[in-house]
Amino acid sequence: MHEWALAEAVIATAKRAAREKKLRRITEITVKLGELQQIERTVFEFALEQILAQEDALVRHAKVVLETERARFRCRACHHEWAFETEHFAPEIAEAIHFVPEIAHAYVRCPSCRSPDFEVIAGRGVWLASLKGEE
Ligand SMILES: [Zn+2]
Repeated sequence: MHEWALAEAVIATAKRAAREKKLRRITEITVKLGELQQIERTVFEFALEQILAQEDALVRHAKVVLETERARFRCRACHHEWAFETEHFAPEIAEAIHFVPEIAHAYVRCPSCRSPDFEVIAGRGVWLASLKGEE
């Protein structure tokens, strides 16, 4: 049900933003999905469709564009930043990291200084990236 709650939050945010911009109709909503966000994309898309179908004319016909934000890490020891490259991992480990990002700490090391002490600086969360509409 996690996906439904997120979809509802995205639509509510879009409507609020549209009212602030005094839009009559939202034509397109761009949603960013973090690569490490635990979300079932097909369920999320289905939830968005279902919620939009029950909405009023402000948002009902909006096209939803989903974009993935690649994960990025920053080393706490040397401040090096790098992107998450799944091809360096066995498929089952890459999969585990996608669903439980904390697992990354067991497998990922800073490529510069080999420290296991890093933070995730991109690739988590779901948010409204942009909105298009008619005034
Ligand atoms: Zn480092």
